[in-house]
Amino acid sequence: MKCVELVGGEKVPALGLGTWKMGVGDADETAQIRALQAGIAQGMTLIDTAEMYGDGRSEQLVAKAIAGAGQRDKIFLVSKVLPQNASRQGTVKACEASLKRLKTDVLDLYLLHWRGSHRLADTFAAFEALKAAGKIRHYGVSNFDVDDLEELSAEVPNNSCAANQVMYNLSDRGIEWDLYSKCRKEKMAVMAYCPLGQGRLLNNPGLAPLAKKHNVTNAAIALVFTLRLPGIISIPKSSHEKRILENAAAADLVLDAEDLKNLDQIFPPPRGKISLAIT
Ligand code: NDP
Repeated sequence: MKCVELVGGEKVPALGLGTWKMGVGDADETAQIRALQAGIAQGMTLIDTAEMYGDGRSEQLVAKAIAGAGQRDKIFLVSKVLPQNASRQGTVKACEASLKRLKTDVLDLYLLHWRGSHRLADTFAAFEALKAAGKIRHYGVSNFDVDDLEELSAEVPNNSCAANQVMYNLSDRGIEWDLYSKCRKEKMAVMAYCPLGQGRLLNNPGLAPLAKKHNVTNAAIALVFTLRLPGIISIPKSSHEKRILENAAAADLVLDAEDLKNLDQIFPPPRGKISLAIT
């Protein structure tokens, strides 16, 4: 499995597992747990969840998927605090609730889900306190554009923000203009969310010839595109074991210059600043 190095040198898998909309409604929980476990067995050991997802039910599902002797130690577990909870005290309270739902003592990465009205200095003071208490190992942000990162540096100088989780896929390439290089410069991993365009990308006929050439699915082509640049972690979500196995194939795939040129023609790179897309 291709890896991404975080600030401080720790390596995490470049292909992980998203969990938005899992554990909710009348979904087949057993099948979803099996799907996550199949991904873990393929080395997709980074799991992304959030207190927002199903009001905590996604975190509870993840807890079940990683239960069992020695399992938790294999996983790089990511969760997120909602902006409305991200006050100095609220962040600590939200983290402790996530830990409880996830049945773990520590999160590997804790993100501010998006910017809200609480001061970044307060949220980051809470992140530092959680880190000092051993409840989180790294912290970061999500949905931060270049100007947000500049404000963060001004308001919280010398922070050790480890990642910025943003929308990135073939149809949403805006970060290639400036945000990607800004994150690289600030030593933040970029976590690509909606790497399959929430599934919408997969019917694009432009993907099929490449999928055929590499003997994989359209999904694997879309995913390996997001992984082609250094420092990017991609977190596709599927509730189906078969699809997770298809997605895992992206980890060993390499697109050549001609493949990338073909993709650029169908999905052109940005020609100027595009405000960060948010789902
Ligand atoms: P994705 O781009 O990962 O697409 C998920 C959709 O694609 C689902 O409908 C899934 O269906 C389908 N799918 C997955 N694999 C395949 C496949 N091989 N073939 C066909 N269809 C497939 O969208 P998400 O919005 O889920 O984004 C990924 C993750 O990123 C989220 O789950 C979440 O963890 C995170 N995220 C973070 C956000 C943030 O603000 N920080 C915002 C949005 C997402 P099915 O499940 O039925 O297989």
